[in-house]
Amino acid sequence: MKLQEYQSKLLFAQRGIPIPKGKVAATAQEARDIADELGGRVVIKSQVLVGGRGKAGGIKLAKSANEAEDLAARILGMTIKGLPVRKVLVDEAADIQKEIYLGVTNDRAARKPVMICSSEGGVEIEEVARTDPGKIIREHIDPLMGLRDYQARNIALGIGLARDYWKQFGQIAGALYQTYVDTDATLAEINPLVITGDKRLVALDGKIVLDDNALYRHADLAEMRDLDEESPQETEARKYGLSYVKLDGEIGCMVNGAGLAMGTMDIVKFFGGSPANFLDIGGGAQADKVTAALRIILSDLKVRAVLINIFGGITRCDEVARGILSALKEVNTKVPMVVRLVGTNEEEGRRLLADANMITATSLADAAQKAVKAAKG
Ligand code: GDP
Ligand code: MN
Repeated sequence: MKLQEYQSKLLFAQRGIPIPKGKVAATAQEARDIADELGGRVVIKSQVLVGGRGKAGGIKLAKSANEAEDLAARILGMTIKGLPVRKVLVDEAADIQKEIYLGVTNDRAARKPVMICSSEGGVEIEEVARTDPGKIIREHIDPLMGLRDYQARNIALGIGLARDYWKQFGQIAGALYQTYVDTDATLAEINPLVITGDKRLVALDGKIVLDDNALYRHADLAEMRDLDEESPQETEARKYGLSYVKLDGEIGCMVNGAGLAMGTMDIVKFFGGSPANFLDIGGGAQADKVTAALRIILSDLKVRAVLINIFGGITRCDEVARGILSALKEVNTKVPMVVRLVGTNEEEGRRLLADANMITATSLADAAQKAVKAAKG
């Protein structure tokens, strides 16, 4: 689960990281009032859960409350990378001398968190990694020891930060790591962390991605979920405990097991198709879950064919078949469906589906080819 910039910065501030003064507005009038309160010179920042808002025109500087109102009206009418802007953060404008990148994430290969820092802040770190990899400093953190002072100093030295800033930097790095640990995040990032004209380090942007599997022990954070920002499909999928990720292709995939779902997507691509989604219905799914899954897949109007690939272990093929049938009763669709059911109760499953006008397949390769063909036909 991603947090909005304003939410992330609030969690940073609670742990001592300096952030600009600011408030969230949902209307241009509110933005104006906040700008007034802050003295006029503000930055209006779209709150949408994507990066690169600056480049997309979703971040603008205003010199007066008047201008803030105008800009807020414009930004509140925007759609950025497909997401409508419903809120803006109005922050006191900063006098930026330098932009730094600072983030913490998990390094799975090293089995440790890693702090990543670069003197080339403001741009996406992936971009720096491509164009100027030497400008990225990494420091692995022992989870039992936490971030040590000498490590923060190593980082500061590594990015060529002037000594005057080391103390502030050390505090911010420590607090960022603490935020990452406290919230069970998979990513906590400040980009940019800026040096201001009056020689302070301030977090201008914030991004936190929480580990969904740990959300159960953070009721307060789970409540920050912004349902407005989630597609209805994602909300529905979560309600039924389905792992669903929407993609851009035309073949809807319903599979049990994440590994099998990935394999299914690969083979769809191998035969020239492109998956419309990742969907894992999980082990032991009952009919209601299958129904919801199919409803979600079919609500994507780009879907031209559905590939159902079930390997029945603890998931029973007859339950899946019942789910498909009840979904078909609910959603009237002409989208062709290819089913491959193998394993527990497969005969029963096939018998149930015999009259349902499905394309059946014996192997995964066969199923993928039939789905690709059906999508093109
Ligand atoms: P992102 O593009 O979604 O990562 O949004 P950011 O919050 O990182 O803002 C993008 C860029 O806008 C920053 O790298 C800064 O260059 C600029 N920016 C953001 N806030 C301010 C501000 O208060 N003053 C000035 N001068 N520039 C800002
Ligand atoms: Mn940023």
